[in-house]
Amino acid sequence: MLILSQSDTLYITNIYLFIELLFVCFVHIFCDFLHIIYSIILFTVIYLIKEETAISKFRIYIVIIAILLLIISFFVYLKNSISSHTSHTEVLLGTVVNISVYGEDSKQAVDEAFDIIRDMESKMSINIKDSEVNRINDNAGLAAVKVSYDTFEVVKQSIEYSVISDGGFDITIAPVVELWGIGTENERVPLQNEIDTVLDKVDYRDIELNNPYIKLKYKDMKIDLGAIAKGYTADKIYERLKDMNIDNAVIDIGGNISLIGSKSDKQPYDIGIQDPFKKRGLHFGKILLEDKTIVTSGTYERFFEKNSVKYHHIISPYDGYPIDNSIESVTIVSVDSTAADGLSTALFSMGIETALEAIEGIEETECIIVDSNKNIYLSSGIADFRITNDEFRLAE
Ligand code: AMP
Ligand code: MG
Repeated sequence: MLILSQSDTLYITNIYLFIELLFVCFVHIFCDFLHIIYSIILFTVIYLIKEETAISKFRIYIVIIAILLLIISFFVYLKNSISSHTSHTEVLLGTVVNISVYGEDSKQAVDEAFDIIRDMESKMSINIKDSEVNRINDNAGLAAVKVSYDTFEVVKQSIEYSVISDGGFDITIAPVVELWGIGTENERVPLQNEIDTVLDKVDYRDIELNNPYIKLKYKDMKIDLGAIAKGYTADKIYERLKDMNIDNAVIDIGGNISLIGSKSDKQPYDIGIQDPFKKRGLHFGKILLEDKTIVTSGTYERFFEKNSVKYHHIISPYDGYPIDNSIESVTIVSVDSTAADGLSTALFSMGIETALEAIEGIEETECIIVDSNKNIYLSSGIADFRITNDEFRLAE
């Protein structure tokens, strides 16, 4: 039988204590501050329990190593939780996308966000040959096409915005958008008879929905989800990041912004709203926001000028021309980015008065409209907005 001497027992106890502390500290380096506190308590308890045993030199070394590991784990924690920040920019969905995530798992969160964007792009982009949207378009007047939940949902919600705007918002505007080619190398003012021919194909009531199938009733009809897909994508990313317990993030899909929480210093984000008369990055006002989405539709986004006339990219389904109702931009602040994106374009098409009236009936949704005379119109619930360029003024 093996009989242990007192020094053997002490040695084994110390080894055990050492391994346990190493393990606890090692685990905690990858965990958070609460765990560090817990490890300090655990350490103290173990120390007190063993108090009656002699204090050997070896034990003092253990204590020093353990304290060093605790200090290291504390700084690793600080680095992870305070300064961990991942930001990535890429051109996707026909625009510049920037995702910034703060906190632990920020790298994985950004990677997943871009995976979602690529997935949405592969389904809804009109510029990707075999996207679901292009399959719907290629089968116009011929067959119903089976689509994903996402594409079905976006088309379904688009029709709701068509109803709200009395047809001013209409994803079947695609053939007219294509004819104008605004923002492409083929941009031009089309002939009236060309406009008349394609305008004939525009009517959201000719989209047949039979979940999960979508059919365009007539040949040569086409849909374009450019007015709403970015918002839907932002919502998908928001949900995924929330599931990952991300508390601070900015999802910016070409100016379609969704905020998770507040800034890492707990202050609200101060979001500048683009001056529709100036180059990108210059704003006429700012608004403090947290955990909200803000989306702007404006004449400045894509346009060309011919004979001193500005032709922009939001087209009237009524006459086939860029909408001319004195609105320069519509900004929507909401909790739902799909709604904000859909409504920014829909309200643009409605004109100032009707738009302001409509927004009051939509919960948790506000708007800021700018007209061609630099007048600013606010819905009744807009808060924490200030004008930063004194050429602009609040409309009476
Ligand atoms: P947004 O920037 O969200 O206002 O969307 C504008 C984009 O939606 C355009 O570039 C077109 O691709 C498309 N579009 C243009 N006019 C309309 C319209 N009346 N209804 C729906 N989508 C439109
Ligand atoms: Mg829109």
